[in-house]
Order: sequence, then C-alpha cells, then structure tokens
Amino acid sequence: MKLYRPSTLFAVLPFVGLLGVASGASAHDEHEALHNELNNEHSATHEDLNAEHRAGHEELDALHREAHQYPMTRRQHRRLHRELRREHRAEHEDLNTEHQAAHRELNGEHRDYHDYSR
Ligand SMILES: [Zn+2]
Ligand SMILES: [Zn+2]
Ligand SMILES: [Zn+2]
Ligand SMILES: [Zn+2]
Repeated sequence: MKLYRPSTLFAVLPFVGLLGVASGASAHDEHEALHNELNNEHSATHEDLNAEHRAGHEELDALHREAHQYPMTRRQHRRLHRELRREHRAEHEDLNTEHQAAHRELNGEHRDYHDYSR
C-alpha cells in the first residue's frame, strides 16, 4: 500500500529570475551562454531535489509497510501515521530550504554578471 503519492515537487521550468532580462542591447552571445548554463544548472538542481524527494517517500513507505507487519492497536496506528506525517513535513521543509538556497546562488551568479557587464 502506498501511503504517499510522490508528486513532482519541483517542476523543471526555465529559471524564472532569468526571464525578461536578456532583452535589450546587452543580450549578446556570451550572455546567452551564461543564461543557458544557469538554466541547465537550475534544471539539474530540480532533478536532484525531485530524486531526493522520491527517495524520502520510498523510505517512508518502507517504514509504514514494516510497521504494518506487526499487530497494532488503532491508537498505535494513529500514532504511527502522525509520526510519518511529521517526518514527511520535515523532509519537505528541508527540500524547500535547499531549493531556495540554490535559487539564491543562481540569482547571485546572474546578478554578478550583469553588474560587471554594465
Ligand atoms: Zn512529499
Ligand atoms: Zn542575464
Ligand atoms: Zn527552482
Ligand atoms: Zn498505516
């Protein structure tokens, strides 16, 4: 039985912070290359985070399955599910924090480029 349906937390989309900046006189080839690089890095980050997320779900599913091999009272079962939910929430918070940090880093790289090329 699957307790949690692994969803795609982080869609692999073009890096939002980069959109709209390329227009204007400064959009030359080198800048294009940087944008491509940052977008690739961003997609890779999302793939990593999604993989981590999936692994986390599999772990929780395994824990749940294992616990169900033994007889449980309703109360024990409720407690088990509460704990699994808490684990899952903590996992999501970790992933979101990682995701934000990655975005900050990519944004910083991008901003640096624009500051120096002005
Ligand atoms: Zn999840
Ligand atoms: Zn740019
Ligand atoms: Zn992202
Ligand atoms: Zn259960």
